[in-house]
Amino acid sequence: TRKEEEEAIRRADALEQDDIGSLRKVSRREYLKKREQKKLEELRDDLEDEQYLFEGVKLTEAEERELRYKKEIYELVKKRSEDTGDMDEYRIPDAYDLEGGVNQEKRFSVASQRYRDPDAAEKMNPFAEQEAWEEHQIGKANLKFGSKDRRSRSDDYQFVFEDQIEFIKAAVMDGVNVDQDPSTDSIEKTMAKSVFEKLQEDRKTLPMYPYRDDLLQAVNDHQVLVIVGETGSGKTTQIPQYLHEAGYTKRGKIGCTQPRRVAAMSVAARVSQEMGVKLGHEVGYSIRFEDCTSEKTILKYMTDGMLLREFLGEPDLASYSVIMVDEAHERTLSTDILFGLVKDISRFRPDLKLLISSATLDAEKFSDYFDCAPIFKIPGRRFPVEIHYTKAPEADYLDAAVVTALQIHVTQPPGDGDILIFLTGQEEIETAEEIIKHRIKGLGTKIAELIICPIYANLPTELQAKIFEPTPEGARKVVLATNIAETSLTIDGIKYVIDPGFSKMKSYNPRTGMESLLVAPISKASANQRAGRSGRTGPGKCFRLYTAYNYMNDLEDNTVPEIQRTNLANVVLSLKSLGIHDLLNFDFMDPPPAEALLKALELLFALSALNKLGELTKVGRRMAEFPLDPMLSKMIVASDKYKCSDEIISIAAMLSVGNSIFYRPKDKQVHADNARMNFHVGNVGDHIALLKVYSSWRETNFSTQWCYENYIQVRSMKRARDIRDQLEGLLERVEIELTSNDNDYEAIKKAITSGFFPHSAKLQKNGSYRTIKHPQTVNVHPSSGLAQVLPRWVVYHELVLTTKEYMRQVTELKPDWLVEIAPHYYQLKD
Ligand code: ADP
Ligand code: MG
Repeated sequence: TRKEEEEAIRRADALEQDDIGSLRKVSRREYLKKREQKKLEELRDDLEDEQYLFEGVKLTEAEERELRYKKEIYELVKKRSEDTGDMDEYRIPDAYDLEGGVNQEKRFSVASQRYRDPDAAEKMNPFAEQEAWEEHQIGKANLKFGSKDRRSRSDDYQFVFEDQIEFIKAAVMDGVNVDQDPSTDSIEKTMAKSVFEKLQEDRKTLPMYPYRDDLLQAVNDHQVLVIVGETGSGKTTQIPQYLHEAGYTKRGKIGCTQPRRVAAMSVAARVSQEMGVKLGHEVGYSIRFEDCTSEKTILKYMTDGMLLREFLGEPDLASYSVIMVDEAHERTLSTDILFGLVKDISRFRPDLKLLISSATLDAEKFSDYFDCAPIFKIPGRRFPVEIHYTKAPEADYLDAAVVTALQIHVTQPPGDGDILIFLTGQEEIETAEEIIKHRIKGLGTKIAELIICPIYANLPTELQAKIFEPTPEGARKVVLATNIAETSLTIDGIKYVIDPGFSKMKSYNPRTGMESLLVAPISKASANQRAGRSGRTGPGKCFRLYTAYNYMNDLEDNTVPEIQRTNLANVVLSLKSLGIHDLLNFDFMDPPPAEALLKALELLFALSALNKLGELTKVGRRMAEFPLDPMLSKMIVASDKYKCSDEIISIAAMLSVGNSIFYRPKDKQVHADNARMNFHVGNVGDHIALLKVYSSWRETNFSTQWCYENYIQVRSMKRARDIRDQLEGLLERVEIELTSNDNDYEAIKKAITSGFFPHSAKLQKNGSYRTIKHPQTVNVHPSSGLAQVLPRWVVYHELVLTTKEYMRQVTELKPDWLVEIAPHYYQLKD
């Protein structure tokens, strides 16, 4: 291979002398490698020169910093060039080709690999719903959608039996400690008790309870403790209460982090009930843009991202006596960074107790990382779970999931247990809800009531509690959940789990700096967690909508930690503002790819958040104050210059709400689309349209009626208003005046461009776009107001990958602006 390498370099050399036209003859990887080596040599020469120059001379502080920074970059580049060989590996799922474009074939093969039947693989499409909507928008709905139309075959009673999906019972996941059956109170006894007393008794039935004193002893004896226990054993709700009862809150708060907002809210609500206090008083939660705590709060549940932000204001977390990093196995980006930070402060704050809790048995890794911290195992209680696989691949998992659920509902007695279906997101859950309702109607009155309970991140708070309500007698509950029900939330009474085997994943291509959300197969570890949800209160059954062969051969063992498949700009900015400059030597449990770190530094430099030395600039410090992605915060900081901060924070707030502003009821789609297009008059672009929605709503004095008339979700608007208020408060903090310039769209668009210039694209002859900095083919999302207009140049908010790579929230741009706003990034070609 030494020879091969030399040959490659020789060829690359030859190539550089050749004209560009022959570029494709040589593998891009070889070419990159060669280029990398050259850069490395240059950097090394630079460094050596300087070291030589500085030898024996006392360096000024500035010189020393510069040298240090150059060294860091040198190390990064060196590391990246070593990585180059297996660069594709950390792009999970493997959806990009070597050129950085989307590799459709490969992407679908990831999803359909598992289907040995080639026809089925072709039919199988995890994006069916999204596709339907896109196709509808493009106006081809009738051409292709026919075969997928579920309604056409769902109208009669018989389908449940005709359409049956055949499962093969494959294995039984053994139960553990099932003899410790939860103590069952007689109904009369329970009725007589107050709710509070009942809750106190419930607490004592949790698997955690018998180990209360042992745990407290262990916490007393050790500063850092890794805690492992099955989901539902009571880690999240009980441990903070035990510690409070043992007096740990006398000298500070107990903080417990959760990777998901809904979990933080719901658990805090539960614990406040159990303690008999009002939510937000002694027990509270804090999630982005929503702080439900007070002076009194001693048990604080929060997202991991919020604790990360608290470090900015309180670097030693002095107000806490205990930090519990919960759901550690999820390995979200923020949790991974927290690991490094809490490990660091635990060294100089011996009084701070640190608990790392996880639902998986793979705790050694956590223990190793925290200097061999002891592991406290809570013996689980789980009933055996029967695993069933489909006999043949399922072409449409959403449909298969619904059919399976109805099959169970119709054939099993209703009192016997509830059903949990894992889906990938809000859209899919809403679709499933509709199909189930529709089909239930077709089944008439002979069957028992089926209560549908959706749960996903954006579900309004008042509906979240519904999934925990006990199922009335004679009825059955079917919970439609995202990954949130995998380990974060435990719903009692589930007997059947239906697992299609997919979840939504973030994927990042560090070479192009492009990040996308996409639906991808889950890991074996996830599949087993999902199955385990059915064996909590009695023996359970799990129906996997894939074959045993797929499970064995196509699923990865574990999910790749987020840090290795995401954009790191936000984290790098936070770390820099915490004064952590040496990112290479930051104590990562699993270090991110060097390439991704470099890209993050590059982006922050381009946004002027960092200077040439990699230090935080004034702009960067201001940006770090906003709990937003760096491009959004840069847009806000830049609005000062264009005198339109009022408009820009409205836009930022609307963008932060996500894609739930407009709704399209199935029977009024035309009306809804017309109402939506009203905000787009003049082809102002999606950002300005969002601004117009917000301003119009404000003019009606935030009228709910107005929202109904315009097919706009009131709830999303209220949230946007809330976020906007907070952004307004933050403006003051970074000393940006609130100025309005609502008629000058150009100024507003320039402010947007100041943050999003790395996201610019140019129209191609075939109607798709090419991103400018790292050429990649993308398209305007069909929901955009510009989908029919297709301006020559655009700037976009984000990319989503469904059937194609789509730009969502698009605004027209003049190319001159790029050169004016980011001359260090874009230059005019002659
Ligand atoms: P773990 O963290 O070990 O997975 P939890 O502390 O989350 O366990 O859950 C313990 C019990 O509390 C479970 O039986 C669960 O159903 C119940 N529980 C948790 N949150 C709520 C809630 N919001 N409403 C009702 N019950 C809840
Ligand atoms: Mg938990």
